[in-house]
Amino acid sequence: MARKPRSQIVCPRCGAPGSIERFYSNGRAYLRVRHSLGGGKRSYCYIGPADSYVHVELLHALTLTNLVNTDPAQVAERALEELISSARFVHGKKDLEGWVARAKLAVDAVEIALEKLKRVLEEKEAELEALRREEERELLRQNGLLVYK
Ligand SMILES: [Zn+2]
Repeated sequence: MARKPRSQIVCPRCGAPGSIERFYSNGRAYLRVRHSLGGGKRSYCYIGPADSYVHVELLHALTLTNLVNTDPAQVAERALEELISSARFVHGKKDLEGWVARAKLAVDAVEIALEKLKRVLEEKEAELEALRREEERELLRQNGLLVYK
């Protein structure tokens, strides 16, 4: 049987060109990107369960579009869940080293991002609190209960 030409995509994991394909493990369908390394050699990047369109949408959201219309908290959570579930498919020294390195980078990145997010959140909470106080004062002023200083 002649093999159909596969359309090349940019791999959402590593950024290299490859073709997406389905594979089966324990009766479940999963997606992976196959990279041709030349000389008949290949490598694969795990994408996620094929029955979950959410994952494909997530990967598109992360790589193709901006995040304006996406809930960033949900995207972050799903991305980490993806990393965790990909651990099931990691075997062999090279893959294990790669996965461990990626997971450590992710943990570092999340910790740094969380610190930044906490600082911005505190600033915004203070801003909101100031607005609320100003609103209260304005209400009192309108009702003649507060003398303008
Ligand atoms: Zn890849």
